[in-house]
Amino acid sequence: MQIGSKNSHEFDVSFGPSLRLGVLGGGQLGRMMIQSAVDFDVRVEVMDPSADAPCRHLTPRFIQGDLQNAADVVAFGSDLDAITIEIEHVSVTGLRQLESQGVRVIPKPDHLAIIQDKGKQKAFFAENDIPTSPFELIEGASDVQKMGLPIVQKMRKGGYDGKGVVVLKTESDLEKAFDVPSVLEHAVDIEKELSVIVARNGSGDIRCFPVVEAVFDPVANLVDYLIAPAVISPKQEKDAEALARRVAEAMNFEGLLAVELFLDRAGNLLVNELAPRTHNSGHHTIEANRTSQFEQHLRAVLDLPLGATDALFPASAMVNLVGSAQAHGIPAYAGLDAALDTPGVHPHLYGKSTVKPFRKMGHVTITGSNHEEVAKRVMHIREQLSVNGNA
Ligand code: ADP
Repeated sequence: MQIGSKNSHEFDVSFGPSLRLGVLGGGQLGRMMIQSAVDFDVRVEVMDPSADAPCRHLTPRFIQGDLQNAADVVAFGSDLDAITIEIEHVSVTGLRQLESQGVRVIPKPDHLAIIQDKGKQKAFFAENDIPTSPFELIEGASDVQKMGLPIVQKMRKGGYDGKGVVVLKTESDLEKAFDVPSVLEHAVDIEKELSVIVARNGSGDIRCFPVVEAVFDPVANLVDYLIAPAVISPKQEKDAEALARRVAEAMNFEGLLAVELFLDRAGNLLVNELAPRTHNSGHHTIEANRTSQFEQHLRAVLDLPLGATDALFPASAMVNLVGSAQAHGIPAYAGLDAALDTPGVHPHLYGKSTVKPFRKMGHVTITGSNHEEVAKRVMHIREQLSVNGNA
């Protein structure tokens, strides 16, 4: 079976449910990828460690398995045409073996090996002159004074969503240091946190989605919502996109790559980190852009022509729907009626069987004719919507 059309921009691929794509990870990202795959009539098969993963009932073949176990990954993928990921903590050894058996693996195992390790990522930036905050690689807590405070310590492996990251500002913070191989970074004086999702296919074609900005809640210091396009100057927007392209090109990357950036208070753009997959900062693209990040990911994975990424609305936002502070048990969604009654609002529920405090249970996309209108709708939605639990 032929996947992709290396030299052509025509859809000359024979699609059909006979084309079998495997996804390592069966959470919300896999779920939204399946929605896009339906339109391409691609059969998506899923492996996840959890028996009740959000993708479980949306795939003709669900395998419960350990994503970090090479044998499980190989057993899952051997008969597939292509395999991709929705989480980066998977067995690179297993993926290398599948690639050697002729399965198309995107992202490439070599790229995954760099990105899984924050130390290797930083070294890659340094070797390729990609601007990033100054850093040192250390073995454990006893080396943490190698850099002057304030610093940020990040575990090289296994961290996600801020877990495995600690900010060390004062001498008394030093006792919070992790005693594992880590990256030490200068703490950046951050003006804005930005993200650019870039896709690159096997022919080297590249498309960027417009820059997204994370708006922080100044009290909780948590990402409150994401807004697109980011409120930055046209030059900063151009530079951010150029930087994301440079990263994808320097790596010879194939697939979808989320490039997380800091804009510091001196106006410098620095690459914080990469995610070689669909990303929270691209969820709004389902409603708000000509091609969604999930469809773009599929196109890149199958080496098809990439889709146009331009926005369909002057502004859009994405609010994560997380479990309330006390929520446990079967999820109960409050306020959905009000959300559905608000123009430009589109909820996505991830189908998780249980809710926990702050667990991501869904998201809401909000589109509008300008940033003020969208921000107002965000506030309204947040007042209305909550996820509680029937423990
Ligand atoms: P994760 O992979 O767990 O999301 P990140 O590297 O994105 O970890 O770090 C989480 C958050 O910590 C960032 O979104 C940012 O707010 C803060 N942070 C990370 N690195 C730095 C840094 N060098 N200087 C200041 N803040 C940082």
